[in-house]
Amino acid sequence: MNPEKHAHTWAIQGGRLIDPVQHLDGVGDLYVAAGRIADPPADAEVQTFDARGLIVAPGLIDLHVHLREPGGSHKETIATGTAAAVAGGFTSVACMPNTTPPLDAPEHVEWVSAEARKVGACRVLPIAAVTLGRRGGELVDFEALRGAGALAFSDDGDGIADDQVMRAALRRVRAIDSVLIQHCQDARLTQGGVMHAGPVADTLGLGGMDPLAEEAMIERDLELVGQEGGRYHVAHVSTARAVELVRQAKAAGLPVTTEVCPHHLTLCDRDVLESGKDPNYKMNPPLRSPADAAACVEGLLDGTIDCIVTDHAPHTAEEKATGFDRAPFGIIGLETAVALAYEVLIASGRSDWPTLLRLMNSAPAEALGLPAPTLATGAPADLTIIDPQARWTIDPDRFASKARNTPYAGREVTSRVVATFVNGQLRHLHPDAQPRMT
Ligand SMILES: [Zn+2]
Repeated sequence: MNPEKHAHTWAIQGGRLIDPVQHLDGVGDLYVAAGRIADPPADAEVQTFDARGLIVAPGLIDLHVHLREPGGSHKETIATGTAAAVAGGFTSVACMPNTTPPLDAPEHVEWVSAEARKVGACRVLPIAAVTLGRRGGELVDFEALRGAGALAFSDDGDGIADDQVMRAALRRVRAIDSVLIQHCQDARLTQGGVMHAGPVADTLGLGGMDPLAEEAMIERDLELVGQEGGRYHVAHVSTARAVELVRQAKAAGLPVTTEVCPHHLTLCDRDVLESGKDPNYKMNPPLRSPADAAACVEGLLDGTIDCIVTDHAPHTAEEKATGFDRAPFGIIGLETAVALAYEVLIASGRSDWPTLLRLMNSAPAEALGLPAPTLATGAPADLTIIDPQARWTIDPDRFASKARNTPYAGREVTSRVVATFVNGQLRHLHPDAQPRMT
């Protein structure tokens, strides 16, 4: 995405403006000029967008996305991944460094940023690896990678097993005031595992992934964070005890944040059985027990879990067709996240739109120290426009993503992203919203 380009002056009229940063929730008009939220223009030629009945909010941010480039363009590209992002209402995505080569050197981070400026539909924030080659041993050059534009550091896909490597990494992250994002998993406890360890895995005869693998690494890390400091972010939290560990760490004042994926809120290990071992229910961390999913929802509602992320993990149909045991872990999520968050938070009667939006725009920004997006005059015009009433059926064939690996095909959902503006440019418009523009 080229941040310098902005085509139109816009008047977005009559929408429900919800801005968690300004504690704003009310019907009104919003103006966009020169890529920013603006005051009403005196004379300029204005393009209007009729937003009556729609929600107009600061753009959504996804802190956990796999764009697969460099090296994995058969699964997804920066172009298709960011097209999926804006279709799902996201105006910024942080991309994980488990690419080929991994983002462990400044030139690789710079390549991703340059490619995103060229072909990206939204802003892309690269996350750099913690260790060279993501091998868990020698540390990267944190200062150089930060200088190249790395937002944070993670060996996502793997946890950092070695205590001394993790301790040293926290010191380095602390020294440059960045954040370490940990995929919490002690690999010794997940060897050969393909789904959550428990009665369902036993019934299916599939290898189990012990929830202790996640919890033990979080406990070890929290001990080290207590000793060394350094901002620490638990990726895709998925077990009840993991949520409780983060809750206690926050109460103790540790610099800890965490995130949860819609699939860990809406699905559980029984769905693997009921789907007939559909590999689109295979991800890492795996779908947990119903009690774990309920604890994640509670953690989201009480503020223990800071934000919602997708862990968008594209794979080809061929890769996913190799059976549950052999198929790669991961599902896509960018184009279904808002509707699933609505299901968990609002259709359930447990929360409201200002909360849902905060969990997907300002809270993720704050977790990683980014400026929170806002509708305030002068702010970059990154906007997500949502039809909260729209009912639709999830159809992977209509996704902008190159990939189709979702367990939600055919699911009836409510609420849909109808338009996404990035830096004042209309980057996504659902066909239903076409007549709203004049
Ligand atoms: Zn991960």
